[in-house]
Amino acid sequence: MSSSRQALIAGNWKMNGGLAANRTLTEAIVSGLNGSSCDVALCVPSPYLAQMQALANGTRLQVGAQDVSPHASGAFTGEVSADMLRDFGVRFAIVGHSERRQYHGETDAVVATKAQRALAAGITPLVCVGETLAEREAGDTEHVVKRQLAAVIHTNGHCISEIVVAYEPVWAIGTGKTATPEQAQQVHALLRAQLKAASPHADRIRIVYGGSMNAANAAQLLAQPDIDGGLIGGASLKAADFLTIVNAAV
Ligand code: PEP
Repeated sequence: MSSSRQALIAGNWKMNGGLAANRTLTEAIVSGLNGSSCDVALCVPSPYLAQMQALANGTRLQVGAQDVSPHASGAFTGEVSADMLRDFGVRFAIVGHSERRQYHGETDAVVATKAQRALAAGITPLVCVGETLAEREAGDTEHVVKRQLAAVIHTNGHCISEIVVAYEPVWAIGTGKTATPEQAQQVHALLRAQLKAASPHADRIRIVYGGSMNAANAAQLLAQPDIDGGLIGGASLKAADFLTIVNAAV
């Protein structure tokens, strides 16, 4: 982590939760935030955004969404627009998560447009990039992550200084296999260099790591100079584990 960038720890609940469980988990997280100074967000399923807005009100917790429509409004059944998210106090929206790319056919261009919609609504897109195991083993990691980020840079121009990038190696998501701190730092440095070539403000863009980050491995990952926080799936569903990660980011 660099002292010039405020760390961000964002939980991604994926399709988990329920009214009662959300309250218990969120209240436990909020009550443990006092000792930390980093940004903390929870990206929750859309039906729970109103509940999360109420639970986060007056606390340091920020509300996040897991996706946003590439369209502004209109006949797009099932989609949720950036302006609608904003109505519920959403500050961050994940775009291009590998599960969306894999199961919903999201292309680099769609992900770039989603980032654009979020930015236009004053929401920070958490832009996910990452290689599959086959791509890593074929030596294609650099090519893949740079191609994914290039699309977002191309579409968003100077606005990219307002994004957060999440490096999430697909082989590490939900598998218990974590990139080593050195592997993660190597890719983060590549992404930082790409951002620097595109924006004079690249030094302030946060690049967070995601992929089986947990209470035991967070401190080592977060100690790397270009790792500015974490996007946390499984471990964000356990208050104690999530808070350990938050505290490792201070
Ligand atoms: C994620 O879904 O973004 C993620 C990183 O999941 P996990 O922490 O469970 O690997």
